[in-house]
Amino acid sequence: MTMASPVKTTCAYCGVGCGLLATPRPDGSAAITGDPDHPANFGRLCTKGAALGETLGLEHRLLAPTIDGTRASWDEAIARVAHEFSAAIAEHGPDSVAFYVSGQLLTEDYYVANKLMKGFIGSANIDTNSRLCMASAVSGHKRAFGADVVPCNYTDLEDADLVVLVGSNLAWCHPVLHQRLLAARQAKGTKLIVIDPRRTVTADEADLHLALKPGSDVALFNGLLAYLHRRGAADPLYIFQHTSGLAEALGAAGQWTLSRVAAETGLDESLIERFYGMFAKTAKTVTAFSMGVNQSVVGTDKVNAIINCHLLTGRIGKPGAGPFSITGQPNAMGGREVGGLATMLAAHMEIGDPEHRRIVQEFWNSPRIAEKPGLKAVDLFKAAGAGRIKALWIMATNPAVSMPQSGAIAEALKACPFVAVSDVTADTETAAYAQVMLPAAGWGEKDGTVTNSERRISRQRAFLAAPGEARPDWKIVCAVAKAMGFDGFDYRSPADIFREHAALSAQSNDGGRAFNIGGCAAFGDADYEAMAPYQWQKHPFVDGVGFHPDGRMRFVPTPVQASHSELKSFILNTGRIRDQWHTMTRTGLVPRLFSARAEPFLEIHPADAAELELEPADIVEVSGTDGKLLLRSLVTNRVRRGEVFAPMHWSAPFATAGLVNHTSPGAVDPLSGQPELKRSRVALGKFTANWFGFAVARHPPTPIDGYWSMRPVEHGFAVECAGADVPEDWLAAFSGMLRVSLADATISTFEDSARGVFRAAALRHGRLQAALFVSRKPPEVARDWVASRLELETVSSGEALAGLSRQPEDDAGPLVCLCNSVRQAHILEAAQIHGSLKEVCQATNAGTACGSCRADILKLLTDSHPLSQAAE
Ligand code: SF4
Repeated sequence: MTMASPVKTTCAYCGVGCGLLATPRPDGSAAITGDPDHPANFGRLCTKGAALGETLGLEHRLLAPTIDGTRASWDEAIARVAHEFSAAIAEHGPDSVAFYVSGQLLTEDYYVANKLMKGFIGSANIDTNSRLCMASAVSGHKRAFGADVVPCNYTDLEDADLVVLVGSNLAWCHPVLHQRLLAARQAKGTKLIVIDPRRTVTADEADLHLALKPGSDVALFNGLLAYLHRRGAADPLYIFQHTSGLAEALGAAGQWTLSRVAAETGLDESLIERFYGMFAKTAKTVTAFSMGVNQSVVGTDKVNAIINCHLLTGRIGKPGAGPFSITGQPNAMGGREVGGLATMLAAHMEIGDPEHRRIVQEFWNSPRIAEKPGLKAVDLFKAAGAGRIKALWIMATNPAVSMPQSGAIAEALKACPFVAVSDVTADTETAAYAQVMLPAAGWGEKDGTVTNSERRISRQRAFLAAPGEARPDWKIVCAVAKAMGFDGFDYRSPADIFREHAALSAQSNDGGRAFNIGGCAAFGDADYEAMAPYQWQKHPFVDGVGFHPDGRMRFVPTPVQASHSELKSFILNTGRIRDQWHTMTRTGLVPRLFSARAEPFLEIHPADAAELELEPADIVEVSGTDGKLLLRSLVTNRVRRGEVFAPMHWSAPFATAGLVNHTSPGAVDPLSGQPELKRSRVALGKFTANWFGFAVARHPPTPIDGYWSMRPVEHGFAVECAGADVPEDWLAAFSGMLRVSLADATISTFEDSARGVFRAAALRHGRLQAALFVSRKPPEVARDWVASRLELETVSSGEALAGLSRQPEDDAGPLVCLCNSVRQAHILEAAQIHGSLKEVCQATNAGTACGSCRADILKLLTDSHPLSQAAE
């Protein structure tokens, strides 16, 4: 059999935007390797990207449109959406309808959705889940530079002598950039400072880790601005020629002495001074920041406090220097370019500027144009909850999980008279509220472009046919627009849309607008097909000229607002982990991506755990604004006292009470509208469980009351559970939870009520169907070994129940290196013989591919050689 040729495309997961080579296989999966020619990754991949080929199955796919839960034709579904939107607009006006879209959309999808809403419906009520990721960076850039231009390139991270990471766990969230940084550190000794309340795996590797109090970043950077100014580290010529507003910024920052910064941030003065000193003396400094900066009620001020320090020292627009926003989503930047946020017009033009409105309206030849900003994400759902949005179309995202106050979002969706959802699956919490479901083509099936964090536009290319009746999003949007009676949506292909998008960026643009890809407007179809990764604004601000009308960049005063010290109880920080993505809609299909972290967890400091009488692996009840969570306790000194951390990935299919956004207060940054997701106030308590269980099952198990989390394993599922109420009939509970028909299966059980022990296994035709292990403490079962019995053709009932008699050590432990399948036990074994990270990696092959596990290996190594320095 001949293998298909590899197709050059782009990763679906994060803002690094790695190039991939995808080779489809006859079984519908695909072999994925890094594209050696792509300038974002030069062939590197992380574990998530490398596993993309394993997420292409059709089990959960939505394959045909539905109306009110019943299969419908495309014509019927499009007509219904068009009718509901038109009727709402006719009766209540354009602002009574809204789109909520996603950084998962390709630029061409985004472009037509934005055109329909702003130019034809005449409202700006289109916002995106990218609002949750980088809206504060956009607001900060616009205040400082006059345009949303990210000033750095990835090569700046390699050219820098000092990299300061603020609120960024680069090793887990942008692993390929982390690999590039690590390589630079090895080659030239780049210094690394990490500013993060948590001691993340990225912080483990840093020369200096500043574990500041959450939300105190503005004070820290105000203090840095004042220090740099005091110590003569400013660049007076640069300030004079290229900036304005320094006096005002210093007015807000001047009082931030070292001792005051120390009191506000909770850091030792000596550590702060070390940071300030390193920054002051290193000309080639990049300050890279991510969600820890953006997801905050003072996110925009944090961004500007960072930029102020770079403007003061003239460290921007030069190799190896600049403030660098790293985006989370694969196409957050493309969405910004087409105006996919409620606060922007297309092609970086401004809704508030009448001239920009004229340019766009004339170019689109549209009947109207939105005249004021629309509702930002949080306000959009509040308006829906209050009955002001009559028709809502959600594309490629799951706000019932991902938005803060997700309980209120569900209520808003319920209250909205008409909800349409286009997605690849109907198995989302949001889809449950949709009257019309529209099957969208997924990654690997659709064509278009995405833009990464360094402004590089890359092609995403189809290498699989769309299954069933699924269609690309741009086609669905254009069909609805036409059904609403609008002209201007007769595109033949994504190439048509891209040409129009490029032409609009150049329309009446004499250089005053940063985003200009007009050269691509003349692309033929073949040029678009062959398009190599292309960067707009190759070296922004190299001439020191910004995009405010006077060409100067602005210092922005950032006075420190309400003190975190007013917060009581525990402060919950949320974030991502290395091997999962968003709400697990893709990564949740890949068993090995659960190897390192199988359950939703709460990191808590040992002293706090002791006060709450929490043992490792106990269940913690977390009470927040909008609901309760049940999470497995992970006692660690990676978090500060009084603060806890939980990952944001576990949604209802994977855990019944793991949805961390239930606890978020829904407060937003007043300028960017980006919600606070890093500093919620929560109360903690121990969940009193009278039993704990572990189970495996061939079929998707049924959740129970209490603690319940599920992950896929090869040939089935594994469940961790715990409850307060002990079932009267364990066999009936076993049958119900694991969907075992007692009539059809051979059941073996063991029960010792006095000790609270129950075990059961069900076999059918000699194959294991399900097994359950219950005890009063978390059962010590050889979990991987038990799960592997599902793969066998025949199992004896004795063997099926033997999990308890095997010690967990019989498992080789979690996979540490997912790329090369190396488990913890093998690394510990090698650590007995070898002393350095390099030797252990060579001996086990761990950490030699994507490298994102090297920090974990180093930790295992230092733990096993506590008295030695397990260095590179
Ligand atoms: Fe994909 Fe990001 Fe990993 Fe690159 S670093 S392979 S873009 S998830």
